[in-house]
Amino acid sequence: MPDRPGGYEVGIVGAGILGSAIAYALAKRRIASVVLDESGVGGEAPDTISAPVRAHVDAPAQYAALCRRGADRFPALQEEIGPVEYLRAGGLAPALTEDQVAAGSQVVERHAAMGLPVRWLSREEALRREPALSPAVLGAVYSPHDGSVNPFLLIRRLLSTSRRLGSGLVLYCRHFVVEPRGGGFLVRTARGETQVRRLVLASGHGVADVGRQLGVVLPLRRIRRLVLVTGKHPPLLRHVLARAWQQLTGEVVIESDAGDTGAGPGVSPEEMEQLARSAVATVPSVSEARVIRAIAGVRLLPAGRPLVVGRVEDGVYAAVAAHAVTLAPLVGDAIAELVANDRLPAGWETWDPGDPGSQPGDEDPAPVATRTPRAGTPGRPPGGPGGGGRGRQDSGSTP
Ligand SMILES: Cc1cc2nc3c(=O)[nH]c(=O)nc-3n(C[C@H](O)[C@H](O)[C@H](O)COP(=O)(O)OP(=O)(O)OC[C@H]3O[C@@H](n4cnc5c(N)ncnc54)[C@H](O)[C@@H]3O)c2cc1C
Repeated sequence: MPDRPGGYEVGIVGAGILGSAIAYALAKRRIASVVLDESGVGGEAPDTISAPVRAHVDAPAQYAALCRRGADRFPALQEEIGPVEYLRAGGLAPALTEDQVAAGSQVVERHAAMGLPVRWLSREEALRREPALSPAVLGAVYSPHDGSVNPFLLIRRLLSTSRRLGSGLVLYCRHFVVEPRGGGFLVRTARGETQVRRLVLASGHGVADVGRQLGVVLPLRRIRRLVLVTGKHPPLLRHVLARAWQQLTGEVVIESDAGDTGAGPGVSPEEMEQLARSAVATVPSVSEARVIRAIAGVRLLPAGRPLVVGRVEDGVYAAVAAHAVTLAPLVGDAIAELVANDRLPAGWETWDPGDPGSQPGDEDPAPVATRTPRAGTPGRPPGGPGGGGRGRQDSGSTP
């Protein structure tokens, strides 16, 4: 454990994309933090593929606007921390059926109503912009601000810059036990113990485990995510498509969500075939590329809403996001603001799990954070046990 007299102001659990971005935002404000991870850096983000930075998403208006703001942060972020292979190629969500045309038109309307530069391309325009698309395409949603980034490089640079600014980093801490102590929290791990005044849960699937130790229950849902990676291919795709994009190194990445996590680990031959077939229907020449990797993983989302950022208990904050890569810079700033000034930036109340008035969507009510009693809890009772927020599930047409 790094030796810091008096411990740290903030302990961040998780060295994934959100934990790293939070550490960086705190370090910029000269707030002493330590990132703790039971494993290495990188979290659940696959280390061999680039990730989309989505400036347009099929989601409630406020969330879509946030994604656009998140995407807009990447050029400056890259200037600050160094190259992260960020490329703003623009995004396309092609429509091959009339239903997809109708859904795409709604996405365009919703973004236009917010003044966001997303527009509908006719079939001819779509093919002119992206000649590799199937001639059967009926049109496409076009978003000029979409792009891609190397998530692993991003995480490494966020962490190394934070460390240069004085943050601590403890990896492979194996077990993580936390208890209220001295107006803050005592954290015990296999690498030693440290005292922190506040705690940020950015531990992905581990949010539930760590939360439980503090008597906090954050409902989460798990979505199985399948990814196929081809061998290097000559330049094929100019844009980031809704379900496929080409890496700077030439590999084509094809991805899809596959329902809940009921299926076993790995990608079954049937799933591979289905995924490949849908990619070929959109981009026929991708059939020339050989699939060299199939990855199955779990994407963790807050239940009933696409984003949770805020206080779950006195001195304890949580961050879980559906579009974690795109939103990481903004989530970092929001948590830093909460730590520094005890309030979220304006407009972020919507995502605060402790705010009973938060209304991220317009469909079914969903509980956000509940608190189970625990002994010796310091501080005030949480603002909204039971949540009461009304949530709409992120439909994620451009996930
Ligand atoms: C195949 C695949 C492709 C994906 N592609 C994308 C994409 O393109 N864009 C995108 O935004 N998302 C993508 N995702 C989802 C992506 O994994 C998440 O968005 C992202 O990793 C979430 O980041 P995070 O920092 O919230 O959590 P994580 O990445 O899960 O990181 C959490 C960290 O906390 C640590 N941890 C957990 N429990 C504990 C504990 N008890 N004590 C200490 N440390 C703990 C873990 O070791 C981990 O390092 C993909 C997921 C999969 C599986």
